Amino acid sequence: MSTATPTMPSAQLPLTVLAEEEKMFQATIRRFARERIGPYVREMDEAGVFRKELLQEMFQLGLMGIEIPEEFGGQGGSFFQAVLAVEALAAVDPSAAVIVDVQNTIANNILLRWGNPDQKRRYLPKLATETVASFALSEAGSGSDAFAMSSRAVRDGDWFRITGRKLWITNAAEAGIYFLFANANPEAGHRGITCFLVERNFPGFQVGRKEDKLGIRASSTCELILDDCRVPAVNVLGEVGKGYKIAIETLNEGRIAIGAQMSGLAQGALDHAIAYAKQRQQFGKPIADFQGVQFELAEMATEVEAARLLVYNGARMRDAGLPFVTEAAMAKYFASDIAERVASRAVEIFGGVGFTKDYPVEKLYRDAKIGRIYEGTSNMQKITIAKQLLG
Ligand SMILES: Cc1cc2nc3c(=O)[nH]c(=O)nc-3n(C[C@H](O)[C@H](O)[C@H](O)COP(=O)(O)OP(=O)(O)OC[C@H]3O[C@@H](n4cnc5c(N)ncnc54)[C@H](O)[C@@H]3O)c2cc1C
Repeated sequence: MSTATPTMPSAQLPLTVLAEEEKMFQATIRRFARERIGPYVREMDEAGVFRKELLQEMFQLGLMGIEIPEEFGGQGGSFFQAVLAVEALAAVDPSAAVIVDVQNTIANNILLRWGNPDQKRRYLPKLATETVASFALSEAGSGSDAFAMSSRAVRDGDWFRITGRKLWITNAAEAGIYFLFANANPEAGHRGITCFLVERNFPGFQVGRKEDKLGIRASSTCELILDDCRVPAVNVLGEVGKGYKIAIETLNEGRIAIGAQMSGLAQGALDHAIAYAKQRQQFGKPIADFQGVQFELAEMATEVEAARLLVYNGARMRDAGLPFVTEAAMAKYFASDIAERVASRAVEIFGGVGFTKDYPVEKLYRDAKIGRIYEGTSNMQKITIAKQLLG
């Protein structure tokens, strides 16, 4: 990540013009989202559960190991492709998008960047083909102030014993592997925070209560309970005390993909609004004939395009090895704002039926709310942006 020279061939292209391989990849995911996920979106939202067979299909399609090298069973793709996948899925179901988002841009990414050869050999093939993963940083008392965590890890020979509780952990109900943060040296403050690879069947580990949420309801969000959980010392990721750096740098990348989830969601809402405006008749003509509605759609489309440009730029910069932290924060902050606004306006274009569960925009409006909260609230993104502005 240190070279300052863009290395991707597609870096020559305008931001939204995709390379041939990227276009084919995007088309495949759009089709999968529309044909396979689309029919179940409402049912999964109501049940608050993502269908198991769709998860399996996502593994079979290679969607859970996009950047994992082929030698480990992955697709050997780029971060930009992971962002394209999240965006395309979010237009149909933002829950499906966040499952793919956490697996690729957080979990796989952590292991690829920080794992040693033995950890990569043991875990990458599983992540690419069969095992869902979670990123467990937050706790009840430490959200924005993530490093104030109270989970503790104590060395015991070739093991660590971890005790604590994690909250809000995405994919936790389905996951088999958890990238979990605990402090192994509280006297050193955040420099004691360490990242552990915890398997679901490790003694003392338990998945706790599942949250009943406003949106992205088919994506599981659970508490994790660690009661003297025994984790082999060989499962420390990176070094003891380097967990804070691993978390910060991973979330910087993950934020670009949350931007993609939000711009994809907004595109989905816009597409539904356009289709409905062409078909709904009032005063003897389609409502799309009224300039008031046309102006709404024009503004929504411009905002979606602006968000997409920020997201694609952040992802291309990351793949090119250029600094991207400010761009990532801007992409997440802006895209989550416009997702909320565009979904809200889509509900209004649908009129009364937009307010019901019979049409998909009501769900997209609820789903949009999470963008300003997870992987760092909008305020935290603004703090990052302002730091760069003010030096
Ligand atoms: C659905 C969902 C999924 C999640 N998935 C995961 C996951 O997979 N892994 C994980 O580790 N965590 C996850 N989280 C946790 C998420 O990252 C936190 O909820 C988020 O970081 C905010 O922390 P908090 O909830 O403690 O809010 P708080 O930190 O208590 O914030 C409350 C309010 O105070 C504001 N605030 C706080 N500090 C400041 C400040 N310094 N300046 C200005 N304003 C401030 C915030 O912007 C916010 O508006 C998830 C959360 C949700 C809801």
